[in-house]
Amino acid sequence: MSAGQSRTNFVNLLQSELTKQQVEPEIREYKAGQVIFEEGDPCDGLYAIIQGFVRISAFVSQSNKHALREFAAGDFFGEMAILNQAPRSATATAVQDSRLLLVSHEQFSELMERSPQLVLALLNAFSHRIRETNVHFVHEMIEAERFSLMGRFARSIVHDLKNPLSVITLAADAAASGRAAPEMREQAKKRIHQQVQRLTHMLNELLRVSEGSTQHDLAPTNFATYFAEIIDQTRDELDNKNVTVEVKTPVPDVILPLNARRLDHVFFNLFNNAADFMPKGGRIMLRFDSKPSEIHVEVEDTGPGFKPGIVQKLFTPFFTDGKPAGTGLGLSICKNIVEDHGGRIWAKEVANSGGIFCFTLPLKNMNEMRTR
Ligand code: ADP
Repeated sequence: MSAGQSRTNFVNLLQSELTKQQVEPEIREYKAGQVIFEEGDPCDGLYAIIQGFVRISAFVSQSNKHALREFAAGDFFGEMAILNQAPRSATATAVQDSRLLLVSHEQFSELMERSPQLVLALLNAFSHRIRETNVHFVHEMIEAERFSLMGRFARSIVHDLKNPLSVITLAADAAASGRAAPEMREQAKKRIHQQVQRLTHMLNELLRVSEGSTQHDLAPTNFATYFAEIIDQTRDELDNKNVTVEVKTPVPDVILPLNARRLDHVFFNLFNNAADFMPKGGRIMLRFDSKPSEIHVEVEDTGPGFKPGIVQKLFTPFFTDGKPAGTGLGLSICKNIVEDHGGRIWAKEVANSGGIFCFTLPLKNMNEMRTR
């Protein structure tokens, strides 16, 4: 039996028992928009809907009401009045002109004493309603979690938008200067174009998360060429922060299956984190290692390094430490991206060193790649 059927059964049985036992319920009429009872009102009984449509809502904050349920003809509400006489826990409003039947607590007790079927039908309707409420609640929880994740993710992206925007501002100023040579203008144009593309990718990533999309396309990419672009794109903003990048070992000249625009986030995030921990400037050192099945990338900075005991927590979503505006999402996003490439990422705790992050990218055949 469906939840709707069990409730209609109960209401039908209730009506026939009322007639049979000659108990006269009150008939109430409400206009659309009229409040039937409010949160906190004393309980007057159980309502069955003969005609119309009723919304049950509750305050989620001082000024914000949230619709919990809606009931149509053949349904009932306010049933808690039968079990206990505590004040109403929600507000009921007629959405359409409605005709309702009100059975008081005393009347219902009388009916139940003489009709075990009515008790069974009520229990049945109750159990369906509890199940429905659970499903509804779980769904709401998942939605709320998704929105809160979205909100936090949006915050981290908005925070990161500042970097490309500052490069665009500087490049635009340089291009607009009367003294700018044609090459300088051309260079500024390239920078602006590059950073606008980066902004577009960030916003697309936000859109991807908000849609719950798990699309992850990989294309054969030359790593050395790709990495040269990363350096080119980040040079200005790192220069502005007095941070230099030193490439300590040759960059592997190999073809890898990459989603370049997503992998950009990993480099941008690691570089930005390093720069955040070196407010007076410093160095980022990059080392590479080419293995038969994967390449290995190491990013080390000259900042203070990790606080003891936190290395295991760094990739946990929302873990943040030592950054007033931190969201704790950067590294967990890096982890997702690296793992979507089939690689691993970790942080190394080395005494008296700065922050060290390592990640691998497999050289596997494209067809073997995990496409989430
Ligand atoms: P957020 O930077 O928003 O806090 P992340 O996920 O990017 O979020 O980083 C999580 C935490 O990892 C940071 O709050 C910081 O404590 C630590 N961390 C990340 N990068 C470094 C680094 N280069 N040096 C020291 N600590 C770091």
